[in-house]
Parts: sequence; C-alpha cells; structure tokens
Amino acid sequence: MEEVPLLEYTGVRKVLSEEERQRYRRQIILPDWGEAGQERLKRAKVVVVGAGGLGSAALAYLAVAGVGKIRIIDHDRVELSNLNRQMLHSDKDVGKRKADSAKARLEALNPDIVVEAFAETITEKNSLELIADYLIVDALDNLPARYLLNKVALRTNRPLFHGAVCGFEGRATTIHPGRTPCLACLYEGAMPGEIPVVGVTPGIIGCVQATEVIKHILGIGELLTNRMLVCDGRTMTFSEMKLKRNPNCRECGEL
Ligand SMILES: [Zn+2]
Repeated sequence: MEEVPLLEYTGVRKVLSEEERQRYRRQIILPDWGEAGQERLKRAKVVVVGAGGLGSAALAYLAVAGVGKIRIIDHDRVELSNLNRQMLHSDKDVGKRKADSAKARLEALNPDIVVEAFAETITEKNSLELIADYLIVDALDNLPARYLLNKVALRTNRPLFHGAVCGFEGRATTIHPGRTPCLACLYEGAMPGEIPVVGVTPGIIGCVQATEVIKHILGIGELLTNRMLVCDGRTMTFSEMKLKRNPNCRECGEL
C-alpha cells in the first residue's frame, strides 16, 4: 500500500450504533475495513464543492458509505437543463438552491450522518474558512474556482480529489501537495462556456472521486496520485496518464 499521510481526525471516538452496524454491514465485512474503518469514516469530514453532476454522484456515495460529516457548497439554483446528470435533484426541485436540495436528498439517503449546506460562491476571501478541516472534493465546472480549491489544499497541506468531464470523456486524479502535481501544474487558461455533458460521465467520475476519498480515509488501497484516470465512454476505455510535477509551477513550485 502506498503511504499516504492521513488527516488527524480529532474528537472523541464514536462507537457505532447497532443500526449503523447493520447499515454498513456489507462493507464492514471487508477484512481491511472492519468496524475500525467504519468509525474512521464516521469521524471524517468531507467538503464537496459543486452539487452538480460530479457532486451528485460523489455526495450520494460518500453519504451512503457513512462519512460522518459532509459539507456541500454550491451557490446555484436547480435548472431544468441540469437534470440530465444532476441526480440528487428532482423535477420538483427546479428553482431551489442546489445546496439545500442536495442536503435534503442526502439526509433521506442516510439519516445517520450530518450534512451542512452552504449556498455560497467560493472566493479568495471565504475559501479557507468554508473548507477548513475538511477533505476537499473538486466537483466544480470552472477553472478559476478550481484554482481556489487548489490554493487551499496547498496552503493547508490537504489532499484534493479532482474530477472533470466533457461529453463522454471524464478524468480524475488525487492531488497531494508537494508529492503530486497540483491543478496549476496540470491546467492552464480557461475552459469554454457551456460544456457538453452526458449524464453517465460525471456519474462514473464522481464515483471514482468518492472511492478515492473513502480509501484515503481508511488508508487502504492505492490512490490516483501522480496519475490521471481518463475514461472515454464512446469507446468504453479507461486509460491512465502518468503525471509529473512542474518544478516551475506558480502555485506549488516552492513546496
Ligand atoms: Zn503545481
């Protein structure tokens, strides 16, 4: 197993209830998961920035896995054109704030976890405060906001679980400050306006991001560090790109 520094999960040890043992039984029986792993998940705090297509999949699976505290940040309201891919929101949610709609859905999926909703835009000013102490999932759709998450991850030495989609193609990587490329090593410039998205693509990639978060919390398996998983739904191929840090990166070159 690759050695990955885990965040310190502070607070009292929370023992699982009988109901939780039942709810999570099929994962607890994994030899490297166990009740100890489940308790780790219960103590974990994850922020998902973006409650759209990627966020819907990542949030749903993090919630049902039993991540104890989940924070959702999204300033948008649900639109009809979101519903081909943003599975946490229903037709009746059109016009509602995505953060609130997603929170209600997650609480229905798993009432044993704490869900926090922030209908806010991530800015230079509030990013540190909104994301502090949380593992960060990048479920955004624009580079400027992604760069802000990248900055917070680098400043706080926290992993960043990145996912991006376009049409049938999706990609994901896990960033560890100073040990892997950061987002500024990997991307330049801005993305085009309206990106085409087939709903299944963020579904797949959001699930990959959730898998990475869970493995990181449990300290099991191998993470997508220094590699980018690329999924092409048209040919149904999954490939991998080796990633290298940019020694002259404006963000992480000094780390
Ligand atoms: Zn960098």
